[in-house]
Amino acid sequence: MRLNKFIAQAGVASRRKADELAKQGKVKINGAVMTEMGYDVKEDDLVEVNGRIIKQEAKKVYIMLNKPKGFITSTRDERDRPTVMELVTDINERLFAIGRLDYNTSGMLLMTNDGDLAHKLAHPKHHIYKTYRARVSGQLSAEKVAKLRNGVDIGGFVTSKAVVNVMKQVERSAIVEIKIFEGRNRQVRKMFSAVGNKVMDLERIAIGELYLGHLMQGHYRKLTKQEVDYLK
Ligand code: URA
Repeated sequence: MRLNKFIAQAGVASRRKADELAKQGKVKINGAVMTEMGYDVKEDDLVEVNGRIIKQEAKKVYIMLNKPKGFITSTRDERDRPTVMELVTDINERLFAIGRLDYNTSGMLLMTNDGDLAHKLAHPKHHIYKTYRARVSGQLSAEKVAKLRNGVDIGGFVTSKAVVNVMKQVERSAIVEIKIFEGRNRQVRKMFSAVGNKVMDLERIAIGELYLGHLMQGHYRKLTKQEVDYLK
């Protein structure tokens, strides 16, 4: 970005005023006076105006990704598996995921560069529920469903109340929608395991009132202002 635009966007001065400041020798790049306003500011340049370091507020970006199976929710993987970062191609800001989905889980992943929002949503008191659709092996009796709804022990932690609806039960498997309020590691898989069923497929279809809708696997879209306001 051109230096005068950089200074103007940081809210320090108008572009014209920025030009004047440069002419007067009041602008420095990495400690050296810079009078050339057409200078292209690099990402790690230190820009000073009147002795004060100025920074660009990174533009806040919020996206919803429909993660396919076979991607890890991380910026890098020591085993060189594909990461969700590879699916987000035309966004310049450095994004990270809010929460995680397992390698073999598909569905909604929110990504942002807004650390405050990520921190807020991670806090249990925020109580944002997540809805998953699971295909599980075996039968799900009414008794098991009641246990899942009331809380099960998943190894030193008893889950809080969940909303559980069996959508379809065939002989050897069931499709279940489950809404949970916490986000422990592999929680849904562990909950079903606690009642003796194995999760065969798992997809997160919603976070709070945000739904995946028709977003295709491997695709992403920016959240609308209303959606961002809802999360905040
Ligand atoms: N629960 C799981 O077991 N896995 C996920 O990816 C998310 C929730």
